[in-house]
Amino acid sequence: MEGFVETVEGRTKLLVPSLSLTERVPPKVPAFFNPAAKLNRDLSVLAYRAFAPRLEKGEKALADGFTGIGARALRAAVEVPELEKVYGNDVNPTAIAAARESARINGIGDKCVFSVNEVCKFLLAGDERGERFGIVDLDPFGTPAMHIDCVLRSVLDDGLISITATDTAVLHGVYPEVCRRRYYGLPLNNSYGNEVAVRLLTSMIALTASRLELAIKPVFCHAVSTYLRVYAVVQVSSGGANSVYDSIGYVMHCFNCGHRVSAAEYPAGEIKCGLCGHRMRVGGQLWTGPLHDPGFVKEMLKEDAGADARCRKILESAAGEIADIPYYFKGDEISSRLKTNPRSIDKIVDRMREAGYRASRTALNPGAFKTDATIEKILAVLT
Ligand SMILES: [Zn+2]
Repeated sequence: MEGFVETVEGRTKLLVPSLSLTERVPPKVPAFFNPAAKLNRDLSVLAYRAFAPRLEKGEKALADGFTGIGARALRAAVEVPELEKVYGNDVNPTAIAAARESARINGIGDKCVFSVNEVCKFLLAGDERGERFGIVDLDPFGTPAMHIDCVLRSVLDDGLISITATDTAVLHGVYPEVCRRRYYGLPLNNSYGNEVAVRLLTSMIALTASRLELAIKPVFCHAVSTYLRVYAVVQVSSGGANSVYDSIGYVMHCFNCGHRVSAAEYPAGEIKCGLCGHRMRVGGQLWTGPLHDPGFVKEMLKEDAGADARCRKILESAAGEIADIPYYFKGDEISSRLKTNPRSIDKIVDRMREAGYRASRTALNPGAFKTDATIEKILAVLT
């Protein structure tokens, strides 16, 4: 195809726009492909490999709503042999022509079905039998907010959804009013803003699900500066939908002393910092339940799953992450308050544990840790 070249990612051959390999910002014309999103797709392949065996025979179909040139769908078709069928859709016919050609080159033309359609029409039409999909992925430009209903209505009971948000400026606090209408909560523009962002995205998905008599269970999430991504199992459960608010709350942050605390209910009146007395800012409502299922993450980490060093690092942090604290502390934030040189996160985690606190790494930031100690106690332990 003119303007396209063949490249290899993972074990899959991809026809990609030539310009996407040379321009710093990949162009949208003739089609969009971002080589830098390889990590995102590598982790997807690991997640789908871990999840596909849970699906019944005949249900092992994946749908990729914004497939572009088909990179994620093709990699799933080639690298997740357990999947029986992979459906990819995009509104750009040139991108879909490239995806079909790539499927032919990889010898998976029979396994892949590519279409040009509006994303919700594609999702709700279901598979070839008109049935729901075992796995549904949504990776849009910008926010996924307007498509969540369609995703939830197109996935099987006990199926998996993977959702990307790239409107990171909104979710990190640059446009709080836009964040509130898209995600039903306020962001916090602070040192752990990406965790608040992931939790805002997750709570929006959970609340939308509850409206549809569904419950979600997050199994893994990760974030880089340009996107964040949540994987969750979806179950038909009015009981689970009824208890959605058990996993939704708020995070309060003091921009003066760095104190942070979570709360199940919106705090009444002005919230004073328990350490320094300054007014605290409130983030949320947001998801305060677990973001990772350690059993699922360990499946992703299995020897034969093929995770590379970069993926392993994220997954190992996720598997050991404290589940019930919805914020983290950055190592350099602590060292700048202590006016000391930065020290390794592993050493900080060990020191906090020796002092009797819970502590762990976090998958959302390699330079940060979680602990049940307040910032005052952390500074005292690490002095
Ligand atoms: Zn304070």
